[in-house]
Amino acid sequence: MKTIGLTGGIGSGKSTVSQILAALGAFVIDADKVGHEIYLPGKEAWRQVTAAFGQDILADDQTIDRKKLGAIVFGSDAARKQLNAIVHPLMFQDIRRRIDEKRAEGFTQPIIVEAAILIEANWLPLADEVWVVVTNKNAVIERVATQRGMPAKDTEARIASQLADAERLKHAHVVIANDGSREDLEQKVRDAWQRIG
Ligand code: ATP
Repeated sequence: MKTIGLTGGIGSGKSTVSQILAALGAFVIDADKVGHEIYLPGKEAWRQVTAAFGQDILADDQTIDRKKLGAIVFGSDAARKQLNAIVHPLMFQDIRRRIDEKRAEGFTQPIIVEAAILIEANWLPLADEVWVVVTNKNAVIERVATQRGMPAKDTEARIASQLADAERLKHAHVVIANDGSREDLEQKVRDAWQRIG
């Protein structure tokens, strides 16, 4: 009946670990997807974010234009804090609702909350335990360059802007070192799964 918060830095392998866990029988909630859905017109986050940042952030179809919003919060700590203060608690509630609904359906296998910002957004209370995926910086840069075409300097900037692994590890019940092949990763995830199973 455990809920596991799965976190890690950019390109560390969270989504890959989630896929492996889903294949083992877990139910995965992807916080990125939740973040997109709560921005839909008519939702509370849409209402509060447009009230705070103005109608100029809307596209023609009334959806929030994430690029326009991103441009506002990119250069301003205050604006980013204001946005996070609106969005993170609403995402917390939405994720909690999804967990509760799944449990109410009678689902007894582990539920995974995959969230890069699990710790920063104060979502730790959602999880019974925290799993952190760590990968060495060079491997991340190489994987993200090969598979997403992202230049090394952009990846490094993202890593620098995110919470340090040392901070994440303070909260970790399980550490998954994704420094080998995909097969190695699968084996590590299977071992961790068996421990909670
Ligand atoms: P983000 O936070 O940026 O969404 P993520 O933590 O979810 O990233 P993934 O998308 O799972 O990371 O992995 C990043 C890339 O590295 C993906 O293209 C994935 O296929 C690849 N990858 C993950 N683990 C390995 C591995 N052990 N060997 C080779 N490639 C890997």
